[in-house]
Amino acid sequence: MQIEVQLAKSAGFCFGVKRAVDTVYEQIEIQKEAAAQGKNALPIYTYGPIIHNEQVVADLEEKGVRVIEDAAALSALSEGVIIIRSHGVEKAIYDLIEEKHLTCVDATCPFVKRIHNIVQKESENGKQILIIGNAGHPEVEGIMGWCSSKATVVETIDEMKSLQLPSDADICVVSQTTFNFNKFQELVEILESTHYNVSVANTICNATEERQTEAKELASRADVMIVVGGAHSSNTRKLYEICSKECATTYFIQTLSDLHLEIPKSVRLVGITAGASTPNNIIEEVQSYVRRNF
Ligand code: SF4
Repeated sequence: MQIEVQLAKSAGFCFGVKRAVDTVYEQIEIQKEAAAQGKNALPIYTYGPIIHNEQVVADLEEKGVRVIEDAAALSALSEGVIIIRSHGVEKAIYDLIEEKHLTCVDATCPFVKRIHNIVQKESENGKQILIIGNAGHPEVEGIMGWCSSKATVVETIDEMKSLQLPSDADICVVSQTTFNFNKFQELVEILESTHYNVSVANTICNATEERQTEAKELASRADVMIVVGGAHSSNTRKLYEICSKECATTYFIQTLSDLHLEIPKSVRLVGITAGASTPNNIIEEVQSYVRRNF
Protein backbone atom coordinates (compact mmCIF):
# COMPACT_ATOMS: atom_id res chain seq x y z
CA MET A 1 0.00 0.00 0.00
CA GLN A 2 1.32 3.42 -0.96
CA ILE A 3 2.20 6.00 1.66
CA GLU A 4 0.01 9.09 1.67
CA VAL A 5 1.78 12.46 1.88
CA GLN A 6 -0.17 15.48 3.12
CA LEU A 7 1.10 19.03 3.05
CA ALA A 8 -0.54 21.46 5.49
CA LYS A 9 -2.37 24.19 3.54
CA SER A 10 -0.99 26.90 5.83
CA ALA A 11 2.63 25.67 5.55
CA GLY A 12 5.20 28.37 4.83
CA PHE A 13 4.57 32.01 3.95
CA CYS A 14 1.40 33.65 5.18
CA PHE A 15 -0.77 35.46 2.66
CA GLY A 16 0.81 38.89 3.30
CA VAL A 17 4.43 37.75 3.05
CA LYS A 18 3.75 35.63 -0.04
CA ARG A 19 2.12 38.62 -1.69
CA ALA A 20 5.12 40.84 -0.85
CA VAL A 21 7.72 38.34 -2.11
CA ASP A 22 5.70 37.74 -5.32
CA THR A 23 5.54 41.51 -5.83
CA VAL A 24 9.34 41.74 -5.88
CA TYR A 25 9.67 38.92 -8.45
CA GLU A 26 6.95 40.58 -10.56
CA GLN A 27 8.88 43.86 -10.49
CA ILE A 28 12.04 42.06 -11.63
CA GLU A 29 10.09 40.79 -14.66
CA ILE A 30 8.54 44.20 -15.36
CA GLN A 31 11.94 45.93 -15.35
CA LYS A 32 13.48 43.15 -17.46
CA GLU A 33 10.69 43.57 -19.97
CA ALA A 34 11.26 47.34 -20.03
CA ALA A 35 14.97 46.79 -20.73
CA ALA A 36 14.14 44.31 -23.51
CA GLN A 37 11.95 46.96 -25.13
CA GLY A 38 14.78 49.48 -24.96
CA LYS A 39 13.03 51.50 -22.24
CA ASN A 40 14.65 52.82 -19.08
CA ALA A 41 14.70 49.90 -16.62
CA LEU A 42 14.59 51.14 -13.05
CA PRO A 43 16.66 49.73 -10.18
CA ILE A 44 14.55 47.90 -7.59
CA TYR A 45 14.84 48.46 -3.85
CA THR A 46 12.97 46.98 -0.92
CA TYR A 47 12.50 49.17 2.14
CA GLY A 48 14.00 46.73 4.66
CA PRO A 49 14.52 43.03 3.83
CA ILE A 50 11.35 41.71 2.21
CA ILE A 51 11.39 38.66 4.52
CA HIS A 52 13.58 37.21 7.26
CA ASN A 53 14.98 34.47 5.08
CA GLU A 54 18.58 34.73 3.93
CA GLN A 55 18.14 32.50 0.88
CA VAL A 56 15.29 34.59 -0.49
CA VAL A 57 17.08 37.88 0.16
CA ALA A 58 20.31 36.49 -1.43
CA ASP A 59 18.39 35.27 -4.48
CA LEU A 60 16.81 38.69 -4.90
CA GLU A 61 20.16 40.38 -4.48
CA GLU A 62 21.59 38.20 -7.21
CA LYS A 63 18.78 39.41 -9.44
CA GLY A 64 19.76 43.01 -8.70
CA VAL A 65 17.30 43.89 -5.92
CA ARG A 66 18.88 45.99 -3.19
CA VAL A 67 17.74 46.57 0.39
CA ILE A 68 17.60 50.10 1.77
CA GLU A 69 17.45 50.37 5.51
CA ASP A 70 16.26 53.87 6.35
CA ALA A 71 14.95 57.24 5.26
CA ALA A 72 18.49 58.63 4.85
CA ALA A 73 19.33 55.92 2.30
CA LEU A 74 16.02 56.59 0.57
CA SER A 75 16.79 60.32 0.38
CA ALA A 76 20.05 59.58 -1.41
CA LEU A 77 18.29 57.88 -4.36
CA SER A 78 17.50 59.69 -7.56
CA GLU A 79 15.56 56.95 -9.38
CA GLY A 80 14.12 53.51 -8.74
CA VAL A 81 11.20 51.39 -7.64
CA ILE A 82 10.74 51.23 -3.87
CA ILE A 83 8.84 48.20 -2.63
CA ILE A 84 7.18 48.53 0.77
CA ARG A 85 7.18 45.17 2.56
CA SER A 86 4.23 43.50 4.31
CA HIS A 87 4.99 45.18 7.71
CA GLY A 88 4.16 48.56 6.17
CA VAL A 89 5.86 51.89 6.88
CA GLU A 90 5.01 55.27 8.35
CA LYS A 91 3.29 57.88 6.19
CA ALA A 92 6.46 60.00 6.09
CA ILE A 93 8.17 57.33 3.96
CA TYR A 94 5.43 57.48 1.30
CA ASP A 95 5.78 61.28 1.33
CA LEU A 96 9.54 61.02 0.89
CA ILE A 97 9.17 58.58 -2.02
CA GLU A 98 6.80 61.02 -3.69
CA GLU A 99 9.00 64.00 -3.01
CA LYS A 100 12.00 62.22 -4.56
CA HIS A 101 9.89 61.23 -7.62
CA LEU A 102 10.60 57.55 -7.02
CA THR A 103 8.12 54.82 -7.94
CA CYS A 104 6.28 53.31 -4.97
CA VAL A 105 5.07 49.71 -5.12
CA ASP A 106 3.11 49.06 -1.97
CA ALA A 107 3.11 45.46 -0.71
CA THR A 108 1.86 46.36 2.78
CA CYS A 109 -0.31 43.48 3.98
CA PRO A 110 -3.99 44.56 3.81
CA PHE A 111 -4.38 43.53 7.47
CA VAL A 112 -1.68 46.03 8.42
CA LYS A 113 -3.08 48.68 6.06
CA ARG A 114 -6.40 48.33 7.89
CA ILE A 115 -4.64 49.34 11.13
CA HIS A 116 -3.08 52.38 9.40
CA ASN A 117 -6.55 53.45 8.26
CA ILE A 118 -8.06 53.01 11.73
CA VAL A 119 -5.36 54.96 13.58
CA GLN A 120 -5.29 57.72 10.97
CA LYS A 121 -9.06 58.23 11.14
CA GLU A 122 -9.38 57.87 14.92
CA SER A 123 -6.42 60.11 15.73
CA GLU A 124 -7.82 62.76 13.37
CA ASN A 125 -11.07 62.46 15.34
CA GLY A 126 -9.11 63.41 18.44
CA LYS A 127 -8.69 59.96 19.99
CA GLN A 128 -5.58 58.87 21.84
CA ILE A 129 -4.16 55.84 20.01
CA LEU A 130 -2.84 53.02 22.15
CA ILE A 131 -0.95 50.29 20.29
CA ILE A 132 -0.50 46.96 22.02
CA GLY A 133 2.76 45.58 20.70
CA ASN A 134 6.52 45.88 20.64
CA ALA A 135 7.63 49.50 20.29
CA GLY A 136 10.82 48.61 18.41
CA HIS A 137 9.08 46.43 15.81
CA PRO A 138 8.93 47.94 12.30
CA GLU A 139 5.21 47.20 12.02
CA VAL A 140 4.52 49.20 15.21
CA GLU A 141 6.79 52.04 14.07
CA GLY A 142 4.83 52.10 10.81
CA ILE A 143 1.49 52.25 12.66
CA MET A 144 2.74 55.09 14.87
CA GLY A 145 3.63 56.99 11.74
CA TRP A 146 -0.04 57.09 10.65
CA CYS A 147 -1.26 58.75 13.85
CA SER A 148 -1.79 62.50 13.73
CA SER A 149 -0.91 62.78 17.44
CA LYS A 150 1.63 60.86 19.50
CA ALA A 151 0.59 57.23 20.03
CA THR A 152 1.29 55.22 23.18
CA VAL A 153 2.74 51.72 22.88
CA VAL A 154 2.20 49.12 25.59
CA GLU A 155 3.62 45.61 25.60
CA THR A 156 3.58 44.37 29.20
CA ILE A 157 1.24 44.25 32.18
CA ASP A 158 3.56 46.52 34.17
CA GLU A 159 3.56 49.08 31.38
CA MET A 160 -0.24 49.01 31.23
CA LYS A 161 -0.55 49.37 35.00
CA SER A 162 1.72 52.40 35.03
CA LEU A 163 0.04 54.07 32.04
CA GLN A 164 0.01 57.86 32.40
CA LEU A 165 -3.18 58.84 30.56
CA PRO A 166 -6.07 60.84 32.11
CA SER A 167 -8.86 58.47 33.24
CA ASP A 168 -11.40 60.19 30.95
CA ALA A 169 -9.12 60.12 27.86
CA ASP A 170 -10.85 58.93 24.69
CA ILE A 171 -8.70 55.91 23.84
CA CYS A 172 -8.64 53.78 20.68
CA VAL A 173 -6.77 50.49 21.07
CA VAL A 174 -5.24 48.53 18.21
CA SER A 175 -2.79 45.65 18.24
CA GLN A 176 0.34 44.59 16.40
CA THR A 177 -0.86 41.82 14.05
CA THR A 178 1.33 39.10 15.56
CA PHE A 179 0.53 39.85 19.23
CA ASN A 180 -0.69 36.98 21.40
CA PHE A 181 -4.48 37.15 21.71
CA ASN A 182 -4.74 36.11 25.37
CA LYS A 183 -2.16 38.67 26.41
CA PHE A 184 -3.95 41.32 24.34
CA GLN A 185 -7.22 40.57 26.15
CA GLU A 186 -5.54 40.69 29.53
CA LEU A 187 -3.99 44.10 28.75
CA VAL A 188 -7.32 45.48 27.46
CA GLU A 189 -9.06 44.34 30.67
CA ILE A 190 -6.52 46.21 32.80
CA LEU A 191 -7.01 49.33 30.68
CA GLU A 192 -10.79 49.09 30.90
CA SER A 193 -10.62 48.82 34.68
CA THR A 194 -8.89 52.22 34.92
CA HIS A 195 -10.29 54.11 31.91
CA TYR A 196 -13.93 54.28 30.87
CA ASN A 197 -13.69 55.73 27.38
CA VAL A 198 -12.04 52.89 25.50
CA SER A 199 -12.82 51.51 22.04
CA VAL A 200 -10.97 48.38 20.97
CA ALA A 201 -10.17 47.13 17.48
CA ASN A 202 -8.82 43.60 17.60
CA THR A 203 -6.33 43.75 14.72
CA ILE A 204 -4.49 40.52 15.50
CA CYS A 205 -3.93 38.37 12.41
CA ASN A 206 -4.58 34.68 12.93
CA ALA A 207 -2.16 33.36 10.26
CA THR A 208 0.25 32.03 12.91
CA GLU A 209 -2.48 30.49 15.02
CA GLU A 210 -4.07 28.84 11.96
CA ARG A 211 -0.72 27.34 10.95
CA GLN A 212 -0.26 25.91 14.44
CA THR A 213 -3.79 24.52 14.70
CA GLU A 214 -3.52 22.85 11.32
CA ALA A 215 -0.06 21.39 12.12
CA LYS A 216 -1.42 19.93 15.36
CA GLU A 217 -4.38 18.33 13.60
CA LEU A 218 -2.21 16.87 10.81
CA ALA A 219 0.43 15.59 13.28
CA SER A 220 -2.26 13.87 15.34
CA ARG A 221 -3.18 11.76 12.27
CA ALA A 222 0.32 11.32 10.79
CA ASP A 223 2.72 8.45 11.50
CA VAL A 224 5.67 10.63 10.48
CA MET A 225 5.73 14.42 10.53
CA ILE A 226 8.26 16.71 8.84
CA VAL A 227 8.62 20.35 9.94
CA VAL A 228 10.63 22.54 7.55
CA GLY A 229 12.14 25.86 8.60
CA GLY A 230 15.13 27.82 9.84
CA ALA A 231 16.92 26.53 12.96
CA HIS A 232 16.68 30.01 14.50
CA SER A 233 13.08 30.62 13.51
CA SER A 234 11.04 30.70 16.71
CA ASN A 235 7.75 30.04 14.94
CA THR A 236 9.22 26.91 13.26
CA ARG A 237 10.54 25.65 16.60
CA LYS A 238 7.08 26.18 18.07
CA LEU A 239 5.58 24.13 15.20
CA TYR A 240 8.10 21.36 15.90
CA GLU A 241 7.18 21.39 19.59
CA ILE A 242 3.45 21.16 18.80
CA CYS A 243 3.93 18.37 16.25
CA SER A 244 6.29 16.33 18.49
CA LYS A 245 3.61 16.19 21.17
CA GLU A 246 1.16 14.68 18.69
CA CYS A 247 3.51 12.52 16.63
CA ALA A 248 6.50 10.73 18.15
CA THR A 249 8.39 10.58 14.84
CA THR A 250 8.70 14.26 13.99
CA TYR A 251 11.65 15.59 11.98
CA PHE A 252 12.87 19.20 12.06
CA ILE A 253 14.83 20.09 8.91
CA GLN A 254 16.08 23.32 7.29
CA THR A 255 16.35 21.96 3.75
CA LEU A 256 16.02 18.64 1.96
CA SER A 257 19.71 17.83 2.55
CA ASP A 258 19.01 17.54 6.31
CA LEU A 259 16.41 14.89 5.77
CA HIS A 260 17.59 11.36 6.49
CA LEU A 261 14.26 9.74 6.46
CA GLU A 262 13.64 6.15 7.35
CA ILE A 263 10.08 5.10 6.93
CA PRO A 264 9.00 1.72 8.26
CA LYS A 265 6.56 -0.33 6.18
CA SER A 266 3.76 0.25 8.65
CA VAL A 267 3.67 4.00 7.95
CA ARG A 268 0.53 5.19 6.14
CA LEU A 269 0.57 8.96 6.42
CA VAL A 270 3.46 11.44 6.27
CA GLY A 271 2.56 15.03 7.17
CA ILE A 272 4.55 18.10 6.17
CA THR A 273 4.36 21.65 7.48
CA ALA A 274 6.72 24.64 7.42
CA GLY A 275 7.48 27.84 9.30
CA ALA A 276 6.38 31.32 8.20
CA SER A 277 9.59 32.21 6.35
CA THR A 278 10.18 28.92 4.53
CA PRO A 279 10.10 29.45 0.75
CA ASN A 280 7.75 27.35 -1.29
CA ASN A 281 10.46 25.73 -3.43
CA ILE A 282 12.04 24.15 -0.32
CA ILE A 283 8.67 22.80 0.82
CA GLU A 284 8.02 21.47 -2.70
CA GLU A 285 11.44 19.75 -2.83
CA VAL A 286 10.76 17.97 0.45
CA GLN A 287 7.29 17.00 -0.61
CA SER A 288 8.28 15.56 -3.98
CA TYR A 289 11.28 13.75 -2.44
CA VAL A 290 8.99 11.92 0.00
CA ARG A 291 6.44 11.15 -2.73
CA ARG A 292 9.15 9.83 -5.09
CA ASN A 293 11.09 7.72 -2.61
CA PHE A 294 8.51 6.09 -0.41
FE1 SF4 B 1 1.08 37.69 7.33
FE2 SF4 B 1 -0.92 38.29 8.94
FE3 SF4 B 1 1.31 39.74 9.00
FE4 SF4 B 1 -0.35 39.90 6.93
S1 SF4 B 1 -0.78 40.51 9.02
S2 SF4 B 1 1.87 39.71 6.84
S3 SF4 B 1 -1.09 37.80 6.77
S4 SF4 B 1 1.11 37.57 9.56
